Amino acid sequence: MDVDKVYLAEPRGFCAGVEMAIKALAWMVNMFDPPVYCYHEIVHNQIVVDRFKDHGVIFVDDIDQVPLGSPIMLSAHGSAPEVVEMARKRGGAVVNAVCPLVTKVHHELKVRAQKGYTVIYVGHNGHEEAIGTMAVAPQAVRLVEYEEDVDSLGQLDGPLALLAQTTLSHDEWSGVVDKVKSTFGELWMPTRGDLCFATTNRQGALKAIAHLADTVVVIGSANSSNTVALGKVANGAGTKRVIRVNSSQELPEDIVGTVAVTAGASAPEELVEEVLKVLSPKHGIEVVRNTDEDEYFPPPRELRELIKSIEDQIFHAQDRDDLQAQPHLPPQLNLEKTRSLLGRPQVDDRQKSASDVLVELGTD
Ligand code: SF4
Repeated sequence: MDVDKVYLAEPRGFCAGVEMAIKALAWMVNMFDPPVYCYHEIVHNQIVVDRFKDHGVIFVDDIDQVPLGSPIMLSAHGSAPEVVEMARKRGGAVVNAVCPLVTKVHHELKVRAQKGYTVIYVGHNGHEEAIGTMAVAPQAVRLVEYEEDVDSLGQLDGPLALLAQTTLSHDEWSGVVDKVKSTFGELWMPTRGDLCFATTNRQGALKAIAHLADTVVVIGSANSSNTVALGKVANGAGTKRVIRVNSSQELPEDIVGTVAVTAGASAPEELVEEVLKVLSPKHGIEVVRNTDEDEYFPPPRELRELIKSIEDQIFHAQDRDDLQAQPHLPPQLNLEKTRSLLGRPQVDDRQKSASDVLVELGTD
């Protein structure tokens, strides 16, 4: 490897939704005796998933695999309404870590379906976010993945609306929008589009540096939609070589010249650092900041309520036996571990990044 210089995209890596979900699962791990169950990968990144597995989290793709009474976290990609319902019926603590921006699309679909619209949803077939969203109103929704799919929609009934998976690439999205409009005419779309700020910002930051580089390195997993979208952005910018890696060991030996580096919204900063170390550019690393990003999502409502309820019961309990006899405490709660955590700032938890939380989990 003979790298002259690295341009490092900013913003890159963890978005506000991923930050929220990782910190929430870390709370669950720290409060409950293992195992904590998580429906689907909490985010699409192997390092993140493995770090939680090491702490007793069991990832499942079917809620029936969760024993009754066990704590459950639902992933950031959003879950079908019947999955949320089934999880609640298992009798343990349930925390839904769905990103608020995915919830926004669920809501748009629900409202349009109730108003009699047929909704064309642009998303990736089989992706968890698309599955969870379409399950909100399966009778009203039609999935399209590519421009060519629009032709096979045929005649559609009623007024039409157009929604999207949050993590598409802008080019993918605008191609389908043009095709849908030219086929069906004007249709309802949300005033604020569904492609999320993090997707937009990361793609914009990469576009600003991709043309400067001989090679673009995108860090993130193959099953991460926004990571794949970053690769498409780099290809669209005409970069000679685009490489996606999920660890520094996957970097090819023959990288030379100038390299642009970015990371998908579910890739931890420790991976970026590892990749930069291996690239080891002769003339240094230049961080190119394209946008300031300070979005923050607080912990999921169920987690805040759970912590508040535990705090109240600890406060009112006469002694340890009295506390353990409280009927409202969830099963599997580890009182000793939980006591030591309470009193930390729970709602305004901006001070600690999810990357730091992961590093701490790795050193436990
Ligand atoms: S990529 Fe966007 S929609 Fe997905 S978790 Fe992050 S902020 Fe939310």
